[in-house]
This record gives sequence, C-alpha cells and structure tokens, in this order.
Amino acid sequence: MDEPEPTDVVVIGLGPGGEYAAGALAEAGLHVTGVEARLVGGECPYYGCVPSKMMIRAANLIAETRRVPGMAGASSVTPDWAVVARRIREEATDFWNDKMAADRFEGQGGHLVRGHGKITAPGQVTVGTAEGTRVFAARRGIVINSGTEPAIPPIEGLAGTPYWTNRDIVQAEQVPESLIVLGGGAIGAELAQVFARFGASVTVVEALPRLVSFEEPEASDLIERIFMREGITVCTSAPAERVSHNGTRFTVRVGAGALAAERLLIATGRRVDLAAVGVAAVGLDEKARAIATDGRMRAADGVWAIGDVTGKGAFTHMSMYQADIAVRDILGSGGEPADYRAVPRVTFTDPEVGSVGLTEEQARAAGLRVRTGVTQLPYSARGWIHKAGNDGFIKVIEDADRSVLVGATSVGPGGGEVLSALQVAVRAEVPVATLRNMPYAYPTFHRAIEDALRNIGSS
Ligand SMILES: Cc1cc2nc3c(=O)[nH]c(=O)nc-3n(C[C@H](O)[C@H](O)[C@H](O)COP(=O)(O)OP(=O)(O)OC[C@H]3O[C@@H](n4cnc5c(N)ncnc54)[C@H](O)[C@@H]3O)c2cc1C
Repeated sequence: MDEPEPTDVVVIGLGPGGEYAAGALAEAGLHVTGVEARLVGGECPYYGCVPSKMMIRAANLIAETRRVPGMAGASSVTPDWAVVARRIREEATDFWNDKMAADRFEGQGGHLVRGHGKITAPGQVTVGTAEGTRVFAARRGIVINSGTEPAIPPIEGLAGTPYWTNRDIVQAEQVPESLIVLGGGAIGAELAQVFARFGASVTVVEALPRLVSFEEPEASDLIERIFMREGITVCTSAPAERVSHNGTRFTVRVGAGALAAERLLIATGRRVDLAAVGVAAVGLDEKARAIATDGRMRAADGVWAIGDVTGKGAFTHMSMYQADIAVRDILGSGGEPADYRAVPRVTFTDPEVGSVGLTEEQARAAGLRVRTGVTQLPYSARGWIHKAGNDGFIKVIEDADRSVLVGATSVGPGGGEVLSALQVAVRAEVPVATLRNMPYAYPTFHRAIEDALRNIGSS
C-alpha cells in the first residue's frame, strides 16, 4: 500500500456542520481533507430543509390566498407545482449540483476528496474514490459528520416498491393524485400538508397514537384537527403491516383495512450507519444509535463527532452549533462547551410548532415540581385581529422550585419566530417574575407569552 497522505484534519461527511468545520479549520491555516460521498452541504440544502421550506412557502401562499374571502374580498388560486419544482431545481439545488459549495471550500484552502471515507486505524481514514483508494494520516484528528439516511422500516412487501423518501419527493415534477405518508413526525407532517394544499388526496399513517408525537399533546391535537379540516386523512395508532405495488398504485394494509394511493412517502425517521464510518477502529460501538461525545464534541482520542450522528437533535442548527465547538476545541481557542438545555425545534406546518427545552411530560419525568401556563392564540388581541389562520397556543413549563421556565411551546403563525423569546428565557433561566414584569409589544403574537405566564398554575 502507498504511504498515507499526511493532513492535519480529515472531516468525514460535509453536511452543514462538516462543511462549516472543514472550511473554518482550513481558513485557520490547517491542512484539511474534506471527504464527501454525495453532495457538499449534505441533506439540508439538497434534500431537506431548503427544498422542503420552499415547498412550504408555496403551499402557505395558497392557503393564505384561500383565506381572503371574508377577510379581504374574493380570491382564487390555481396551484402550479411546476413553478415550485423549477424553483427547487434552479434556485435551491442548482440541479443537485454542489459545484458552488465545493469551490467555496477549496477557496477557503480545503482539499475536497469525493468518495466514501472510513476510519481504518486511529488517525487514519481510507477513502474509496472513483480513481481508486486513498489513505490519509490525520496529524490533528478526525471529525465525523456523516449524518443520517432515511430509515426504511422492515414492512412486508415494502422493499422493491417504488416508494419515495425525502430525496425523491423534493425532486417530484408533478403532484400525485393521491399520496400516503408513512410517518407523522415533523418531515411527514410538513410534506403531507404541502401536497394536500397542492391538490393531492393525502393520508398520514402513524404507528404512534398522535402526530408530531415528540411535541406537547396539545400541539398534536391541534395539528391533527387542522389536517382533518384541510381534508387530510389522519390514521394514528395505525402501524402499517404490509405494502404492495401493482405497477401504478400502492396498497398499504393497516389493521383490518387497506389504503391505496398513487405514491407512498416513507418518513419514518432517520438512521445512522456507524459501521460504514469505521468507528470501531477508534474503539467506538458501531452498533450504537449515535456517537456519544463530551461537551467539546470529543468522541475518542483525536476524534470529534458533530451533527445528526451525535443524537442530540437532528437539526441543521445543532450541526452548526456543534461544529463551532469542535473547531474551537481543535484550534485550542477555548470557549463554552455544548449546552443542550435550550435546543429549539420547529415543525414548519401551518401553524408552525416551535418548542424548546422540556415538554411537560419530560419535566415531570425529570422529577421537577412542574407548573404550566397555557393561552390560546385566537383569544389574544393579535390572534383575534388575524382571524383566518389564527390557530395556535403558547404553553410554558415552569420549574416551580426555581421559578424559571424549563420548556415552552409556541404554535401559531410564525410560531418558530415567537419561539426565540422563549428560548432565551429557558437558556438564560430568566426568573418568571422578570418575564412577567416587562411590557410585550401590542398587538404582536409574542405578546401571548405574557398571558401564558399569567396563567401559570391555573391549569
Ligand atoms: C425533509 C427534511 C427536512 C428537514 N428540515 C429541517 C429544518 O427545517 N430545520 C432543521 O434544522 N433541520 C431540518 N432537517 C434536518 C437537517 O437536514 C439535518 O439535521 C442537517 O442536514 C444536519 O445533518 P448533518 O450535518 O449531521 O449531516 P447531513 O446533512 O446528513 O450530511 C452528512 C453528509 O455526510 C456524507 N457522508 C456520510 N457518510 C460518509 C462517509 N463515510 N464518507 C463520506 N461522506 C459521507 C453524506 O453524503 C452527507 O452529505 C430536515 C431533514 C429532512 C430530511
């Protein structure tokens, strides 16, 4: 075998965090080898956040237009998916071409190697490229940012059918006449609503008793009611048992019944493949569901892990947050370690579901003396003015012994934006008394936070 090629840092996987870390380390003067098997930038810009949020923006415009009657006159809208598909191809993904991102990384001084990277010994990464195998010896360390793949459940008959994952649906050129979405988590819920608003007959099939089941039950109830109001069929506590495809249509057997549709989207979660990254070579468990890290994102001697593989929240902002910490640690520039008390998450349905910190159930399970406060958005001044499309609520979770918020949920128009104030309150442990004794701009949606705080203990 040829002598390993020396480098300072190998970054395996250039998702949002890996791309940032590799570029920042290169700009700091290190010799950085960025290894990417697919597209520089990862899932978010090409198959995840960006194209899905473009779809959501378009679908929300349709919904807003339909709210005009009774509010501002008459309206009619003729949805045209071709416009959305073109925008995703041309503006978001450049036809799923990462040249701009690759050039940017190399412009920062990084060395891009296209291929699959695997740790083959401490400090050593072997990359299978189109031109052959290359071996790198990393003097400073290895950063793992290998992300996740769509998890395909082992449902009888599913393998071999032309089902869609997120990677297919973002490339859809047409809206199917009917769509079954398997999985009612954030991704499934967002895409179900988009396609229903563009005219598909949509059914969401969720094995658990409620949609967006990681959120407060009130959020699940509201989203389910809105989905049903918009004509989406919601089947909860409904594990799919068998799937078949007859060449044109899917049939999904659920309990005693069967559902049929032109397309089937699998949105049942994500999976990591740590064996493929070779983590056993540095003493880590390749069968684990995530790579455990310390507050500096260190996973083993000379190994850092960031992003979805760490299991701390599969969000682009988490990948970037952890990347920054790893970069500082590798460069020895100090700073705060990771803090996961106030991780925000937003499901971009309409209304948006934003949440931070603990849910009520999690806070109780943690042994806290919990008090909650809830307020309904339609009864707030802004919600009443807004009228059509004003569904939502704010719920705050107080640790009554310390009189600080440990969690909050903000559902409504701009629910993810309203969340920011609640995130600061949770992260900085602002006393509830302080939060209560300040004016909130009238008439904003975030002013409802004041009502939720006032209601603490009354529910
Ligand atoms: C439909 C959808 C919508 C989403 N919407 C949002 C949203 O609105 N907001 C949000 O915060 N998050 C969202 N996410 C999640 C977000 O996309 C991820 O959290 C984000 O991409 C960060 O992931 P990551 O950095 O861990 O890696 P990824 O983005 O998964 O990238 C990992 C990269 O590593 C590469 N790779 C893996 N193994 C190897 C290897 N051995 N060798 C070389 N390369 C390798 C892969 O090819 C990939 O490019 C969404 C996800 C999906 C699927």
